[in-house]
Amino acid sequence: MSKTVSKTIRIDHAKAAGAFLQKPNHVAFHDRRLWDLRTKRDVQAHGIPEWETLRDLASGIKEHTLSNLADYIAQFADQASMNGVVVHFAANAQEHNELVYKLMSERGMTALVKSKSMLTDECYMRDYLDLEPRGITVMETDLGERIQQLDHQDPSHMVVPAVHKLRADVAELFGRTIGTDPKNSDILYLAESQRMNTRPYFMREKTAGMTGCNFAVAETGTVVVCTNEGNANLSANVPPLHITSIGIEKIIPTVADLGVFVRMLSRSALGSPITQYTSHFRAPRPGTEMHFILVDNGRSERLAMDDFWYSLKCIRCGACMNTCPVYRRSGGLSSYGGTYSGPIGANINPTYDLKRYSALRFASTMNGSCTNVCPVKVNIHEQIYKWREVIAEKHEVPFVKQEVLKMAGRLLASPTLYRATVASLGGALKRLPNFVLYNPLNIWGRGRDLPEAPAETFHEWYRKNRSSAKRAPQ
Ligand code: SF4
Repeated sequence: MSKTVSKTIRIDHAKAAGAFLQKPNHVAFHDRRLWDLRTKRDVQAHGIPEWETLRDLASGIKEHTLSNLADYIAQFADQASMNGVVVHFAANAQEHNELVYKLMSERGMTALVKSKSMLTDECYMRDYLDLEPRGITVMETDLGERIQQLDHQDPSHMVVPAVHKLRADVAELFGRTIGTDPKNSDILYLAESQRMNTRPYFMREKTAGMTGCNFAVAETGTVVVCTNEGNANLSANVPPLHITSIGIEKIIPTVADLGVFVRMLSRSALGSPITQYTSHFRAPRPGTEMHFILVDNGRSERLAMDDFWYSLKCIRCGACMNTCPVYRRSGGLSSYGGTYSGPIGANINPTYDLKRYSALRFASTMNGSCTNVCPVKVNIHEQIYKWREVIAEKHEVPFVKQEVLKMAGRLLASPTLYRATVASLGGALKRLPNFVLYNPLNIWGRGRDLPEAPAETFHEWYRKNRSSAKRAPQ
């Protein structure tokens, strides 16, 4: 599948989410599954008395590293080189992809077994390598990523890439693509079938291995990869060539710092105390090669953005997605239109193309839950608010929304007008014929039910009870 990112088409989040909302069973499952992860995360976080201290520490370490990033990149590269790793730098996605291809083609490699990496998705590497005349077979070895690859879809979540699919969907997909029983949706059967399908690629000649990177430790020149399936270990340890793609923001100063992040990552992501595998890759095995590619791809530009550089602290745990009521009910597959979905995607994607991603700012209720659960204290909802200001200044707000916001501004600025509107609204809503709200022209009514208007407004209640509240004994 070949894909290029259009610079001109504006992502209409509401419209794109409409396709997801056509399947009520999937929407309900998606919401339930992600809320379950959020609940488990809470149990884990509350089980550690020093959780908030860890968040402060993690945030401080990230901000310190990003403030001295050039030095830490140099230290990491020097240490890795001393360990026998070949270090490369890629300014953008194109350079990254060309480097991977060069490394492989120079060694006659024709296949790449890889573990999960958002960065390679961001670079559209699979499409690049797959294209003729390059013709490299890229095999995703993470279960969720493989499901998405077989379905020709991007990941819909940064930790659980196929979370929008039901088990029956996976059974049908595997039946269609790798010849399993399409009626058997047993999880063990499906996982085992995927393994049997991908494992032979590890053993083939002319296969290279690729991993992503969760943390790159400057002090030791080590790359740390956290997985639950062990597929990264196979990708790194079986083929004779191991390539690691590293976003430059993944660098942390010391091994001691690593403990802070490792304690938080899996707890925040899946509500489990730790990932099954926390693997440290430092030097090539005898007779093999290890290459690290440090990738910028817009990160330096983001680092220079006064209000938005905080998003570089992100450790890709997905907790902000799991807690977001908009993401849970609108899906991430194509609704956000970019590699990153959910609240953090709404902040990262516009740094690449403001116009294309300008509507994502409104895919938020601004409840601040994303910020509250973020283990590294990215001020996510504040950045979303700031993006709203930026796109308004750049006149990127659609005309209808502009006019509605102006009206809302006038209404909220006048207490008299506001109270009069609220008072008349209660009665009007009761009498409003259904077709006014639920008709093809009113997109608000699609997928939404208007709640019953309360018998009295808060102001009415307060006026009635204010005097008795004042007299209440202290
Ligand atoms: S912004 Fe925070 S909560 Fe969201 S994915 Fe990144 S680290 Fe996790």
